[in-house]
Amino acid sequence: MLVDAHNHMDFYGENLKKALDIIKKDDIKTLGCSMNLKSYIFTKKISEENENIIPCFGIHPWEAHKNYGNLDRFDDCIKECKALGEIGLDYYWVPEREKYPKMDMVFEYFLSRARRYDKITNIHTKGAENKILEYIKRYKLRTPIIHWYSGDMDVLKELLKCGCFFTISVDIGYSRITDEIVNILPLDRILTETDGPDSLEWVNKRYGYPWEVEGIVRKISNIKGIQYEELKNKISSNFNRLKL
Ligand SMILES: [Zn+2]
Repeated sequence: MLVDAHNHMDFYGENLKKALDIIKKDDIKTLGCSMNLKSYIFTKKISEENENIIPCFGIHPWEAHKNYGNLDRFDDCIKECKALGEIGLDYYWVPEREKYPKMDMVFEYFLSRARRYDKITNIHTKGAENKILEYIKRYKLRTPIIHWYSGDMDVLKELLKCGCFFTISVDIGYSRITDEIVNILPLDRILTETDGPDSLEWVNKRYGYPWEVEGIVRKISNIKGIQYEELKNKISSNFNRLKL
């Protein structure tokens, strides 16, 4: 089994069938994150025919300003899904500061529900790492998954103390920060992810099918100096510890 602990099934468009076939054939346990309610419903439907896909419900920080009203309308979806995501804050790719109070409001609502219903969270932290750390401490969340971290190493170490897992994404081998993070992370906190097909295009112009997680495991195994199979098993057991 391989692990894709942060993907977006609604990003594949006409390539969806091929992506689903790869997920089945290569046995890739996949957390299908959502951007909003529509995206969650789509992913949930797909998961009915592909047991490797676990649909996660969340409002992405880029979508928060369009979805902040009547947040309790989301409670049924929050309760039924096994993990909440993609949720979080983004003070880097979202330059409009007027959107931040709504972003914070939506994120904090999901955290309060994660605490109440004991849910795993899949968290976007870009440019807001310190604040995310404060929130995680305040809500005492169970094993949050920090998605594609790129912040300060001291904050990363504090997040590790809070029990966080970290996903390593497709920029491994291309990003000095990601390689440094892999060096720091203990083996029992590492997961792998693709973040949908577009992320690899952003890194090296190639389309990113789910099989990219295998190459990510290989690159981590090189950096960490351990055998591929041993690391693959370790990442599987990390994923199983989430008890999804
Ligand atoms: Zn994402």
